[in-house]
Amino acid sequence: MQPPEIGELSPPDRLLMGPGPSEVHPRTLRAMAAPPVGHLDPAFLDVMDETQDLLRYVLRTDNQWTIPVSGTGSAAMEAAIANLTRPDDAVLVPSNGYFGDRMAAMVRRAGGEPVRVDAPWGEPLDPDDVSDAFAEHDPDLFGFVHAETSTGVRQPDVPALTDIAHDNDALVVADVVTSLGGVEFRMDEWGVDAAYSAGQKCLSCPPGASPLSLNRRAMERVRDRESRPRSWYLDLTLLDDYWGDERAYHHTAPVSSVYALRESLRLVVEEGLETRWERHERVAGALREGLAAMGLDPVAEPDWWLPSLNTARLPDTAHVDPDDVIERLLAEHGIEIAGGLGDLAGEVLRIGCMGYGATPDNVTALVAALGDTLLALGVDVDADAGPAAVRASLRDS
Ligand SMILES: *Cc1c(COP(=O)(O)O)cnc(C)c1O
Repeated sequence: MQPPEIGELSPPDRLLMGPGPSEVHPRTLRAMAAPPVGHLDPAFLDVMDETQDLLRYVLRTDNQWTIPVSGTGSAAMEAAIANLTRPDDAVLVPSNGYFGDRMAAMVRRAGGEPVRVDAPWGEPLDPDDVSDAFAEHDPDLFGFVHAETSTGVRQPDVPALTDIAHDNDALVVADVVTSLGGVEFRMDEWGVDAAYSAGQKCLSCPPGASPLSLNRRAMERVRDRESRPRSWYLDLTLLDDYWGDERAYHHTAPVSSVYALRESLRLVVEEGLETRWERHERVAGALREGLAAMGLDPVAEPDWWLPSLNTARLPDTAHVDPDDVIERLLAEHGIEIAGGLGDLAGEVLRIGCMGYGATPDNVTALVAALGDTLLALGVDVDADAGPAAVRASLRDS
């Protein structure tokens, strides 16, 4: 058998402005390239403590039980859902986006029964509907998506939802994958019992180690389960042996991914969490203006606009396939964005404005390139109006 002839890795130069992964800071890349140490080396135990402290800061929580899960956001998601869902539990999940469906699928695998609270794709949950769903289904757990990446919708007024759940003795699990480190989220103050996230969205870390935090009540529910969760790898009581006081082997931590997450979190602390929230709002606000000036109207209303993920409709008159726009933007300009999912498939563009990539230069370049691309595809668009609107918005804010 001939050995395969494969050259040294040389990824193309891209500007990542899609739904993730996002642009990575050079310091985080350097941290990833540092030599690994053993996962039980005293030096790594310090790195673990530091990473946990940094995660608590970014999540705005005092929860002792705060860890990076080995794997991408879906691993942290499944760790939360699989441990908090007991067999035959009713779990309330939203139907207004792609990731609510993923929650439901995980609930089913955990032996629970997903029940729904509905809202159209492109809108947040209405607290009255959540109340009605509680009255109808009496769920044990309520999962919601704070930042729905498939629609660009932010769930406003989180405490209104957590109050309803707690009045009904249910626990709350929040998907903060596309908000953490980019959009205001306050775990303790807002009454969220469990939250999970990922590295490669607003934290600007390569995918690999994913934040997860549970408060005391949530952890009690996990410890008091009569049967262990079906996943051995994600069983939180076993992971506690490693991430808790004992620091005993469970599985080998992805050392380089933890290095990277630690450095990404350090960058958030250096900037300041609130300053970072403001930057995302300012820069994504300019992006939104730039898109609108070229006739690409935002899907999300201002009241539930999600700065880190902007969904815009192509003009009705454009008669252009979003996939052609996306392909051309990548091929001609090296810029990655994405198209719609589910109910919005074929109708919208999804543009991320996340972490290290959320800068005035990047959104200006993106809007200019998008204008050129639409012109090249024969769309009647005022391509100069986009960048001008971006600049004007940045000047005013
Ligand atoms: C990206 C994402 C996930 C899943 O994360 P992966 O890292 O792709 O596994 C879950 N929820 C939301 C809202 C996301 O945007």
